[in-house]
Amino acid sequence: LPVEFLNALPVLQALEAEGFEAYFVGGSVRDVLLNKPIHDVDIATSAYPEEVKKIFPKTIDVGIEHGTVLALVNDGQYEITTFRTESTYQDFRRPDQVTFVRSLDEDLKRRDFTINAFAMNQTGEVVDLFDGMTDLENRVIRAVGVPIERFNEDALRVMRGLRFAGQLGFSIEEQTFKAIKEAAPLLEKISIERIQIEFSKLLLSKGRKSGIESFVKSEAYQYCPGLKERSADLEKLIQLPEVAFQQEKQAWLFLVYSLGLSKSEVKPWLKQWKLSNNLIKSVQNLLVGLLYREAASWSNEMLYQIGLDDALLIEESLMYLNQEYDVNSVVELYKNLPIKSIQDLDVDGQYLIQALKKPAGPWVGKNLSAIQREVLIGQLKNDKDSIVEFIINHNQ
Ligand code: ATP
Ligand code: MG
Repeated sequence: LPVEFLNALPVLQALEAEGFEAYFVGGSVRDVLLNKPIHDVDIATSAYPEEVKKIFPKTIDVGIEHGTVLALVNDGQYEITTFRTESTYQDFRRPDQVTFVRSLDEDLKRRDFTINAFAMNQTGEVVDLFDGMTDLENRVIRAVGVPIERFNEDALRVMRGLRFAGQLGFSIEEQTFKAIKEAAPLLEKISIERIQIEFSKLLLSKGRKSGIESFVKSEAYQYCPGLKERSADLEKLIQLPEVAFQQEKQAWLFLVYSLGLSKSEVKPWLKQWKLSNNLIKSVQNLLVGLLYREAASWSNEMLYQIGLDDALLIEESLMYLNQEYDVNSVVELYKNLPIKSIQDLDVDGQYLIQALKKPAGPWVGKNLSAIQREVLIGQLKNDKDSIVEFIINHNQ
């Protein structure tokens, strides 16, 4: 067992000591079997949530209506979920109601793909009801049960199948792929937030190329925000070198770049995907910088505006786009910028108000912008006297 599972053994033991069954389940077991690092340890048990809460002194209700309790044990936090079935699906979406059951088999049956439907006990024995082991060996994504029924139950699985294919570099089994294609229109019933989480993981995945290829081939893209009829643009994304992006903002940058969006189009487009305002701002900043860099080399002002981290990400992006890039020059230019941020100015708004004996107003911000610009292009020395003199002349 990996160290993460060993640390969690007391949790399984405590549940079993009370006569319940308890297993490691879900993605963590899959990742252990693939020798991949695991991020969260999921535990499933025959104990009902109220019973789980009696066994562990410290718990937090994180999703009690779905049967999930967070137990705080030995500095660790473990999500413990009661075996459950999801029998009543309405509108092709995840059900609001779940039924708790005492049977592991029932719980495994409701899971999406064979490689996600393992359970592992304390001694490392694997319960594998759907021959997921063979699929792991053959590197195949296969739905549990009758594929089309499973995608009709919850159409998010369409996106999940594509993203696991990308993340693991697996192919999608033929019947499963047919069902993905057939069920893809049902994505319109699924909340954008849930689709976006899966799509984001697909964009960031190592196997992005083949994952996006399947996304296009299955026509799932036709039912995603802003992508209808955009297969030719997605093709550009497929043509990029096969490297995994390290950051979400870079992944979305390449998407909006491939779509040919302009600076003003980015925000509303990404808003449809319900990305956070912060992420949208970052992508916008990157796109502005990238479009600028395609036409010119860095100026002090532009580099100051974009910032070093994003500028480096832009140089890397140019490399992926097979365009000229130059990391050393950016680093050098940045090092020599007269100021790196507005705090580096020898004056601030308050100082200007006092020095010029004028009441606060929009003139302060306007002048601060002008000062930064002049200092950056080397036309103005960054000291109080020079700056005040500049303002007096500038505002005449
Ligand atoms: P990751 O490594 O990205 O967390 P994961 O397999 O753990 O992947 P989760 O979304 O964390 O994925 O879900 C945990 C487990 O719950 C899955 O492995 C799967 O067994 C089950 N599961 C999650 N979402 C669904 C779904 N929509 N339909 C069926 N089973 C699901
Ligand atoms: Mg998980």
